[in-house]
Amino acid sequence: MTTEAVGRLAPTPSGELHLGNTVAFTACWLSARKAGGTVLLRIEDVDRSRARRHIEDDQKRDLEWLGLTWDEETPPQRHRDYGAWLGALPDTYVCACTRRTITEGGGNHPLECRTRGSTVGAVRYALPDRVVRFGDRVHGPRAVRPLEFGDPVLRRKDGVFTYNLAVVADDIADGVTEVVRGADLLDFTAVQVELWQAFGATPPTWLHAPLVRGPDGRKLSKSHGALGIAALRESGVDRRAIHRVVLGWLGIEGDDLEAAAQAFEPSAIRTAPIDLPEDWRSALDLR
Ligand SMILES: [Zn+2]
Repeated sequence: MTTEAVGRLAPTPSGELHLGNTVAFTACWLSARKAGGTVLLRIEDVDRSRARRHIEDDQKRDLEWLGLTWDEETPPQRHRDYGAWLGALPDTYVCACTRRTITEGGGNHPLECRTRGSTVGAVRYALPDRVVRFGDRVHGPRAVRPLEFGDPVLRRKDGVFTYNLAVVADDIADGVTEVVRGADLLDFTAVQVELWQAFGATPPTWLHAPLVRGPDGRKLSKSHGALGIAALRESGVDRRAIHRVVLGWLGIEGDDLEAAAQAFEPSAIRTAPIDLPEDWRSALDLR
């Protein structure tokens, strides 16, 4: 039996599309298209205090302008209920720790908290203490002890479900088979593998695309406004010029997305971050 490939573009509407997150969106699209599979769009706005509707609209427009189209939009996180998912998980507990008590305790969440019997606080998942092995399509085999990250919060003290829970629940519900995202989440994948398994689901394949860092050495964000897709478009840059740059970072020559989908090969993708120089516009030939 073959399973159809299902990938998802999952933007968080708190910041605009830029050259950095476009790398992962493009890799997601190419991977699903090469496999003849389906591309879903899902808006990750579980934290409504950070989500902005106009940014969601801008992101969809930018994705469409780039040609990163989707076959179906699944419900945004604001329309989903995670209560049943949380209820289905064994090994959860209520944690009354504050960020301050954790910091004062040396930065690690105390394991004793699992048996403390708090009734008010965040809900955390008690991770098994073991090494998780998973494969990344770019970085190869990984062995990570998820407990290094501490027990993940699934529902905050204020009742808001977290990205940790929502992204796994949504990917299972949406039938996602391929997760493609930025390399900053590479090792944290071990935590998510544990959650997939706790739900009795088979984890997807993982592909962590290279991070892009601005001239200040930091991962690109909305503060790097000139590197935004909208800013580039408005300054007259053609989308094929953007494709040429992004595809190059993914180890593919040329500026045609359809051709790139056939040429897509995860092992050709670089593992190291991309550091943009001060004169990135001329260095990337984006004028
Ligand atoms: Zn705690």
